[in-house]
Amino acid sequence: MSARRLPDDLHLDTLAVRAAVDRSQYGENSEALYLTSGYVQPSAEAAARRFAGDEEGFTYGRYGNPTVASFEQRLAALEGTEAAISTASGMAAILMMCLALLKAGDHIICSQSMFGSTIKLIGSDLAKFGVESSFVSQTDVSAWKMAVKDNTRLLFAETPTNPLTEVCDIAALAAIAHGAGALLAVDNCFATPALQRPVALGADIVMHSGTKYLDGQGRVMAGALCASQELVTEKFLPVLKSAGMTLAPFNAWVVLKGLETLDIRMRAQSAHALDLARWLQDQPNVQRVFYPGLSSHPQHTLAMAQQGGVGGAVLSFEVRASAADQARARAFHVLDSMRLLSLSTNLGDTKTLAAHPASTSHGRLTEAQRQAAGIQQNLIRVAVGLEHLDDVKADLARGLETLT
Ligand SMILES: *Cc1c(COP(=O)(O)O)cnc(C)c1O
Repeated sequence: MSARRLPDDLHLDTLAVRAAVDRSQYGENSEALYLTSGYVQPSAEAAARRFAGDEEGFTYGRYGNPTVASFEQRLAALEGTEAAISTASGMAAILMMCLALLKAGDHIICSQSMFGSTIKLIGSDLAKFGVESSFVSQTDVSAWKMAVKDNTRLLFAETPTNPLTEVCDIAALAAIAHGAGALLAVDNCFATPALQRPVALGADIVMHSGTKYLDGQGRVMAGALCASQELVTEKFLPVLKSAGMTLAPFNAWVVLKGLETLDIRMRAQSAHALDLARWLQDQPNVQRVFYPGLSSHPQHTLAMAQQGGVGGAVLSFEVRASAADQARARAFHVLDSMRLLSLSTNLGDTKTLAAHPASTSHGRLTEAQRQAAGIQQNLIRVAVGLEHLDDVKADLARGLETLT
C-alpha cells in the first residue's frame, strides 16, 4: 500500500510518529488495527493482477496486511532503508534472511558472541542443509577478514552483543563483506535506530527483534529485516509467502505504536544504564562491569562514535567470587534477593529485568561455545528500565551486600 502523502525530508522523530499506510475512509488518527486474514477483491481481473504482482493490493494475510505494512514503513523510515519486511519473531527474521540468501555450499561468517539462538540456528540447524558457517571474534576485524572464503555470501554481526555488550566496527565489516562480494547484515536489536543506523555505516540488511525495544513494554513478539526494495521484494517476500513466518496484525500494531516513543525511551533508559553501571563499578562485591558507555569498556571510543554517544540500556556485571565453584551460587543469590526487578531473560522493557545468561539465554550452548563467548557463571545481565534508579540500586544491593 502506498505511503501516506507526507511532506518530503521529515526528521526521524516525525517519521517515528507519522510514517504509515494511508488512513482509511474513516479518518482514524491512531493507525487502524486490521484484523483480517483475507481480502475481498474488487474484480476477478484485479485479483489476477494482484496475485501476479502487477497491481498493488492485499490478497491474503500470510502475504501482507495494512497494519503490518504501516509497521514496516515506519521501521524502514527509521533505519533509512527503502523497505522492510516483518516476521513473527526476531529469530524468524534471521531464518527468513538465511533461507532467502543462502543455499547448500554457501558460507556465512558470524561473531562467536552472537545471541545464543542465532548461534544455534546458523551453526546447527542450517548446517543440516549444507550451509557452512564460521564463528569469529566479535572485536577482531582481521579474524573476519581471514574467515572469508570463495563461497562466503553473508557476514552477520550484532552490536552491542548480548550479554557482554561487545562492539564491532560496522563500517570495517561492511568493507570486508563488499570486498568479498558478500552482504553484511547487522542485528540492531540492542542499539535500535534511535542510537545506531547500520545502513548509514555500510550494512546491507538490518535485522530486528521487535520483541525488544521496538515494542518497548514487553508485550508481543515481532521481527523484521530492513533492506533495499530489491532484497525485500525479490528475496525475502517469496520466503515469507511460502514459509509463512508472518507477523500477526495485532503484534504489528503494538510495535508500530511502540516506535512512536522509541527515541525517548532509548535515551532515558540508556541514561539510567550509564548511572547504574557507574554505581555497580563502585560496589565491593562486583568484579567487573560491561557497558559500552563506561570509559573502561574496551571498545568505548568505537561504541560512542557508532551509537551517537549513547551506550544503550543493557549492561552486565560479574559478581565477585574467589572460588570458581561458588560463582553460580553467588550470582543466583543476587538474583534471588531481588524484590523489585524482574528475574526475566527478556530485554527492552520499561521494567528492569535481570537474568543469569549462562543458565538461561546461553544455556543451550556447549561449555566450549559459552567460554568462547566469555559468558561466566558469575555473570548477571541487567536490561535497565524506567523505574527510579534508587529503587533499582537498592534491589541489587539487597543481594550484593548479603553475600557471604
Ligand atoms: C531477542 C533477540 C533475538 C531474537 O528475537 P526474538 O524476537 O526473541 O525471536 C535476536 N537477537 C538479539 C540480539 C536478541 O536480543
